[in-house]
Amino acid sequence: MIYLDWNATAPVRPEAVAAMEPFWRESFGNASSVHAAGRAARVAMDDAREIVAGLIGAEPREIIFTSGATEANNLAIQGAALEEASKLQSDDQDRRLQPTILLKRFVSSPVEHPSILEPMEALAARGLIEWARLPLDADGALRMEDIEAEAARKPFLAALMLANNETGRIYPVAEAAARLRASGAHVHSDLTQAVGRIPVNVKQLNLDSAALSAHKLGGPKGIGALYVRRGVKLEKVYSGGKQERSRRPGTENVPAIVGFGAAAKAAQRDLTEVPARLAEFRKRLWTGITELNTSAVLNTPLEHSVTNTLNVSFPGMDGHFLLQKLDLQGLCVSSGAACASGSPEPSPVLRAIGYEAARVRGAVRFSMGYATTEADIEGALKVMVGACNFIRHGS
Ligand code: PMP
Repeated sequence: MIYLDWNATAPVRPEAVAAMEPFWRESFGNASSVHAAGRAARVAMDDAREIVAGLIGAEPREIIFTSGATEANNLAIQGAALEEASKLQSDDQDRRLQPTILLKRFVSSPVEHPSILEPMEALAARGLIEWARLPLDADGALRMEDIEAEAARKPFLAALMLANNETGRIYPVAEAAARLRASGAHVHSDLTQAVGRIPVNVKQLNLDSAALSAHKLGGPKGIGALYVRRGVKLEKVYSGGKQERSRRPGTENVPAIVGFGAAAKAAQRDLTEVPARLAEFRKRLWTGITELNTSAVLNTPLEHSVTNTLNVSFPGMDGHFLLQKLDLQGLCVSSGAACASGSPEPSPVLRAIGYEAARVRGAVRFSMGYATTEADIEGALKVMVGACNFIRHGS
């Protein structure tokens, strides 16, 4: 099998598996217990927190472990909305008897992950917030003049991802955040597809909160983190315990947290070398594809994207059908976000950019990671020859 779907998930790194092992067995304590078993779990969790914080330039106390980036994104949006609602209630005694309507402006890019778009849509559908989506240019880029115009409207919260999961495009989060924060907005960024692929520093990016996920960097699934800048108030969404500074109650998943830490350490080390290697592989893949199919079009702006991602459209072909054909030949790729695949729905990200239907329908995403080899790329191109011929000629 050739695996080129690293944006969906990555294989767990051997060092993460090894680091987790003892925490399933002898070091099984509850990190909240005061006895020796609990203290050992707490120490391991604190070490992991320090490494994860270090990977994004945060302080350990600014990291809240969650079940993944989906939860982290939801917690940031809902937590900010709830915090503001309770502030409004305590500011105005009369309101206590009335439902609190925030009527605050929340803004996002139109190509965010559903774990950003759906909570915003749900709050807007209840009339609690006004939700605006920033426009993109014909190439899928955000324009600073639109950010300026948005900042002038003084939004309450803005969510802008750093790297897109489908196209790999990197958005100008630092510049946008500087402008939006200056006008009083809480700026949140989904860093899931950027961490481990480009250097990320939440202070330089000027963020109030940010989401990350372990399984995209070679950690286990079901663990992630929310960064919350010190001093920023977010109300908890779940109740029940004092874990994670009361912001995310529930017994911590110590083995997964330890695996996250080990993966974060390896991802940091890899930054010096892996992204450059993947850039070469991507060049080779794209050249090979254009030799195979001259009508192939690029949906990933190579100079403005993380180097592990190549999104290509084969107009006239059905990307979903092509994906199935490639799968039968042992090549794993994606025709859109993993959350959307399995259903033939065309990519919402490419549609939001405004590409025509044939381009959106014919899209295939190749994504690579630390263990991708040159042989994988050559093997993938070989498989593509057969699949493209089949689709074109039916034989
Ligand atoms: N944001 C982005 C950009 C993603 O690609 C993903 C994973 N598909 C998520 C959030 C959700 O991450 P998790 O699987 O950890 O919930």
